[in-house]
Amino acid sequence: MAYSEYWNPKNETLPREELQALQLLKLRRFCEWAYATTPFHQRKFDEAGFKPEQIKTLDDLRRIPFMTREEWMESLMEKPLFGDLLATDSRNAIRYHLTSGTTGRTPIRVLDSMKDWDWINEMWCYGIWGFGVRPEDVVYFAFGYGSFIGFWGAHYACEKLGALVIPGGAQTTEARIKQIIELGVTTVFSTPTYALHLWQKSREMGIDLARESKVNKVILSGEPAGSIPAVKHQLEEAWGARCGDTAGMTEIGTIMIFECSHQPGGTHIIEDHFIEEVLNPNSDEPVGYGELGERIVTSFGRGFIPLIRYRTKDMVMKAPASTCTCGRTWDIYSGGIRGRWDDMKLIRGTNVYPRAVEAIIREYPAIDEFQIYIWRKEELQDEITIKLEIKTGHEAEWPDLEHKLTKDLASAHEGLRFNIERMDYGVLPHFELKAKRLVDARPVANY
Ligand SMILES: [Zn+2]
Repeated sequence: MAYSEYWNPKNETLPREELQALQLLKLRRFCEWAYATTPFHQRKFDEAGFKPEQIKTLDDLRRIPFMTREEWMESLMEKPLFGDLLATDSRNAIRYHLTSGTTGRTPIRVLDSMKDWDWINEMWCYGIWGFGVRPEDVVYFAFGYGSFIGFWGAHYACEKLGALVIPGGAQTTEARIKQIIELGVTTVFSTPTYALHLWQKSREMGIDLARESKVNKVILSGEPAGSIPAVKHQLEEAWGARCGDTAGMTEIGTIMIFECSHQPGGTHIIEDHFIEEVLNPNSDEPVGYGELGERIVTSFGRGFIPLIRYRTKDMVMKAPASTCTCGRTWDIYSGGIRGRWDDMKLIRGTNVYPRAVEAIIREYPAIDEFQIYIWRKEELQDEITIKLEIKTGHEAEWPDLEHKLTKDLASAHEGLRFNIERMDYGVLPHFELKAKRLVDARPVANY
């Protein structure tokens, strides 16, 4: 059966002037509604002297104050459980979920209405239809189905577009691999790390997924690796399938970007439902195509919790829609989400702030230069190694220092094991800039 290439042929190919006119109309209405319903936004708009009727062109977007995760957290702490961000009575909610840990200690709690979920699924439909999922597909979710929103929306989206859905929650990796083969699965949804793990496990079981499974599409989300060429290439070889990147945020509840089946080396922005600004994170001035900046999102679909000019700290680079041959008029994030503007690193589930590590290292005067080296062992396990040089004349302190420093670093990081590696004097680059002391050699800059 011949299908359209697009889920929403009209909006996905809308000339840019018409697309921007649509965004402007939505933006103004959305601000009016948020101001009328949400104490959080009333307060912020008033403080900034912003009124929704000031929105006359898309440039007026810049009059709207930014929304930050820190403010959201503060609001949750002051008025548990949900803060003053809800645009409607909590009794209208049909679903509760949490963010995965990023910067804060307390999770962000989110509620959604029926309307939110219709929209959440619709956004996933844009993305997965765009990558080629069709009613004939048999779709497998290698996903835990907990209170982390993850692939929930994608699950419903697959049902909506008529595919056969297999929820693969609460099973061993081996059992999942067997199901994928037995049930003739054609499309797998997974994080990049887990897709790699499934493949490695299958090899141990003597199974060649590329030959013995019918999988021809792997849809990736949850980590930026889906757009890193080396990772993508490895996964495509391993599975004998095309791998498509998507990215979303728990704060939005769904995806805002997806890779189309033409695989242009990046992800289209769903521009009829989001305004994605890219700003210089220091000056807050917009940057052009081909320049790295911070992603700022305004999401028109979020009904329960209006998200307006939300600072994501994601590092992105826009490319014009014409970079891709699919005919969509939606701009692209070249290379997907490339990393983070804040310096937090996640190592085996523990948050590590390089500044905190440096503070501990600096308590040892015998250490001259050092480097925090983050890497991935056997493509699966993240490791953190402190490479250091001992000052001349202090060499005898090394064995004792190695022992104490390992203990100090672990006790400041929930028991996380740091590797300590002594380098010959003069091997490490002696930098002036603190940032250069951190090397993240993982194929993915993890959240
Ligand atoms: Zn495309």
